[in-house]
This record gives sequence, C-alpha cells and structure tokens, in this order.
Amino acid sequence: MIERVDIKQAARLLGFHDGVPDEVTLRLIEQYEPILADAATPRYRYIISPVEKCPVPLIGNDIQKHLENCENVALLCATLGAKTDTLIRSAQITSMAGAVVLDALAGAAIEQVCDKCESEIAALYPNMQMTYRFSPGYGDYPLSVQPRFLLALDAVRRTGISVTESGMLTPSKSVTAIIGMSSNKMERTRRGCISCSVREKCTLREKGEHCGF
Ligand code: SF4
Repeated sequence: MIERVDIKQAARLLGFHDGVPDEVTLRLIEQYEPILADAATPRYRYIISPVEKCPVPLIGNDIQKHLENCENVALLCATLGAKTDTLIRSAQITSMAGAVVLDALAGAAIEQVCDKCESEIAALYPNMQMTYRFSPGYGDYPLSVQPRFLLALDAVRRTGISVTESGMLTPSKSVTAIIGMSSNKMERTRRGCISCSVREKCTLREKGEHCGF
C-alpha cells in the first residue's frame, strides 16, 4: 500500500502542466487515489557496485556520459506490483476515464517509490553526489540490458518483476535505473533532485521536469 499518491504529479501526467486539474478531473483523481494507493504493493531493491565491476553492461554513449567521473553505480528496481495492473485493466472495461486516471496515479506512485529508494541510498552515502536516474530505453541505452538488470538485483524472486522478450517489464508499473555516484563535485544538470540543494524551491522539479533533460 502507498500512503498517499502525489495527485499533483498525477495531474501533470494527465496533461495539466501546472499540476492543477479541472474540476471534473480532480473529482476523478480524488475518487481513484485511495483505490490505487490501496492496490499498490510497492517493492524496491538496490545494489551498489564500482563502475568497472557493474554487473549490467554499460552500452552506448549516453550511459557512459551520464556516469562520467563516477566511482560507483547504484542499480535499482521498483514496482507497484501486479494488483495495480489488474485494477487498471478492470477499469478499462467499466470506465475508460477511470482507467486513464488510475494509470496516471500509478505513474506518479511508481516515481514516489523510486524517490524513496533513492533517498535511502543518498542517506547511506551522504558524502557522495548522485546523478538522476537513468533507465534502459533512455537515449541509446538499450532495453536489451533488462534481463541482466533483473538478474543482478535478484529482482524476479525478491520483487516479482520480470521482463518480456521485447524488454518490457512486468508488472507494467515497474522501473529499473542506474544512478551514478561520485565523491567529486558534479554539475547540476547531471545531479538527481534528491541530493540537490535547491530542490525545495526548484520550479522545474515542481513541474515534474529536470534541468538535465
Ligand atoms: S531539476 Fe532542480 S532540484 Fe532537480 S537537480 Fe535540477 S536544479 Fe536541482
């Protein structure tokens, strides 16, 4: 279960860029938020590894650039669990609008689970700067690394996440990501918001964006 889903972020995912939905959408969000929060069974897991011993291949220019000057990487996976998929599928039969809102709420919720995981890592390594999360499928980092990712994290057994032949994760609201960690100063555009000193007043973050994208 998730205590409270970030409804502003769900509204942004529904196309309300300022996070303020119209009245009809707000009513739907408020109706479905507790249902989604109750159905979610969030799980996450992470490991830390020296970059040169990273158990997941670091293929492509973009991930190499992202990890420039990093000594370590954190590999993480997170999921909302299979019940969330079932809930969204059932809503597609009874209320398409409800299904769309549930999907957005689930998108916001999985980000919250990833943020929680990332905060835990940051608290364990307070002297290291961390990049934002970089997932397979971003830039030229291929989805074909997903099986290696899940293997490294023992994710199938510990979180219930698996991968299809095309590299898609199941349950669908699941994420894998790499975070670079460095004891040296890192430019802001590569840093994750969790460890950024201006995060409380950052308008980009407030809008669900990042200065590095
Ligand atoms: S988006 Fe804002 S909070 Fe996040 S790293 Fe950039 S400046 Fe910091």
